[in-house]
Amino acid sequence: EIALCGVHKWYGRYHALDDINLSIAPREKVVICGPSGSGKSTLIRCINRLEAHEQGDITVGGVELGQDERKVDAVRREVGMVFQQFNLFPHLTILENCILAPMWVKKIPRKPAIEAAMHLLGRVRIPEQANKYPGQLSGGQQQRVAIARALCMNPKVMLFDEPTSALDPEMVKEVLDTMVALANDGMTMICVTHEMGFARQVADRVIFMDRGRIVEEGEPEEFFARPKTERASLFLSQLL
Ligand code: ATP
Ligand code: MG
Repeated sequence: EIALCGVHKWYGRYHALDDINLSIAPREKVVICGPSGSGKSTLIRCINRLEAHEQGDITVGGVELGQDERKVDAVRREVGMVFQQFNLFPHLTILENCILAPMWVKKIPRKPAIEAAMHLLGRVRIPEQANKYPGQLSGGQQQRVAIARALCMNPKVMLFDEPTSALDPEMVKEVLDTMVALANDGMTMICVTHEMGFARQVADRVIFMDRGRIVEEGEPEEFFARPKTERASLFLSQLL
């Protein structure tokens, strides 16, 4: 489904991704963790081409993310992304946020777009907020809207970049519950998160990054109980 092969990226002279090799199967759930600045966001932003890589190959659903902009568009339609800051359009209602891309990118008529959006707002358990504006919702509710909005494009893969780290503690659980439900539905997911409970519960694999490299990867039980590298043990000890 997703394959990164020998991927490198530089910001100027800074080597942000250093020989990343990773493949993710359909329905697989991968959690990426690691210290600040280790390249986690850069890695997942390269998967939907919010950032361009300089060397190596990235293939998503059989489409290679090269220079061809049409292919980039094709990949973006299949990949949903949820950010730390919810990135909702503040001047649009929740429902309008959700139907915008389906209508303009996928050319879905307004009525079926609304029906699909209402269904997904139901799935994240906030259909009653559809006509409010983002600023009228709590952080946790806004993040659930962001998840529903991404799902409205019917993506094959969902990318999450620290979706709960900007939330007040009491709102973290409602967002994690939404993500667990999505995982249980069989969505392919790549989540940058330090929520280790979530990783234990849903991840097939945990990937630990440091200085632009994948330093360690393994099943969550194994990784948390017996990290193989000193860097990962130090990182885990600081989380507790
Ligand atoms: P955090 O946990 O703090 O979110 P991260 O693992 O997501 O960190 P990245 O955001 O991928 O790290 O950044 C990796 C490195 O690349 C950092 O040193 C960062 O300063 C640098 N970097 C990221 N984006 C840019 C940019 N647009 N221009 C220059 N350098 C950047
Ligand atoms: Mg980041």
